[in-house]
Amino acid sequence: MKGIEGTFDVVGGQAALAYFATLDPSRLSHGYIFSGPVGVGKKTFARRIAQSLLCETPKGTLLGYCGTCPGCTLFVAGTHPDFVSSEGRIKIGGDGGSALHDEDLSARDLVRELSLHGYRSRYRVVLLGDVSFATHEAANALLKFFEEPPSGVVVILTTNAPGSLLATIRSRFIELAFGPLPRADVERVLLASGITPGRAAFASEIALGSIARARAILDEDDLGVRDASYAWFANAVRGEPADASFLRLDDRSLSGAEKRALVGELIELVRAAARDWVALSVGGAGVPLLAADQQPLYAKLPPRDPKAMVALLAAVGDAARLASTNVSAGLVVDYLRVQLAP
Ligand SMILES: [Zn+2]
Repeated sequence: MKGIEGTFDVVGGQAALAYFATLDPSRLSHGYIFSGPVGVGKKTFARRIAQSLLCETPKGTLLGYCGTCPGCTLFVAGTHPDFVSSEGRIKIGGDGGSALHDEDLSARDLVRELSLHGYRSRYRVVLLGDVSFATHEAANALLKFFEEPPSGVVVILTTNAPGSLLATIRSRFIELAFGPLPRADVERVLLASGITPGRAAFASEIALGSIARARAILDEDDLGVRDASYAWFANAVRGEPADASFLRLDDRSLSGAEKRALVGELIELVRAAARDWVALSVGGAGVPLLAADQQPLYAKLPPRDPKAMVALLAAVGDAARLASTNVSAGLVVDYLRVQLAP
């Protein structure tokens, strides 16, 4: 692997790092999909690549930026003319009538953004963070771009549900998978953002490799989703009615991508709870747990035979795969609930 000249400060994304660090710049593709769970550094990685490409200090590597040249200065100020970013869960095309997100990008905007060459740089980077292509026009705009991409233009699309993208769109991109982060990386990011050591250690311990989840744990409002998810799991495995209202599946103000993210969150927490439940029933009290604070809840779960436990873990994996496709969030939740039932 070539070294990196200049700064390239990311956590996670080992596969993407290996790919770009050895890539000959002439082989840079016009489209990349960074896929993986929420909060594992996909968008940060994309922004670092963008800054690397727009940095004006000559370098022998694709990754790395100086941080001081005019290109870097404009990038950091958020005013670089060759970087377009639609971050957050937005709809491209919109569904008409509903309030538009601040960062909503229309299909027409997208066509224009994708047709331009770099103004001051030989590169132009368009970051589409967790977008959902709400209209055919938006999907077509992207497909047209790939028919005749302007030189130097790179589109990076991040998603936690790559299977929900149209196959015709997905096949045009090079997809790089991002996995959960090591606990120490989550802790390091939290500490760097000013979280106190005690809270950073606590949140990173139970965040299951996601910085977004760690922040949610530290955020009083979002602690509700975590507790509600564990309670949902406990009721489901007891075969009792499980309240899923916290997923807001009927809330029309939430986009499909937002609902998928919440369901993805439920599945990850259920996966952790299922592993803990198996660990406790095999190893007994005292085994290390992914969510040690949920011990009182685990203690109230009915015993189940080991074979059924293994099947249950497999079913959670199936639900996770299902959730990464365009199957509706509600169906995924129903599937999971049925699989967990005694
Ligand atoms: Zn620079």
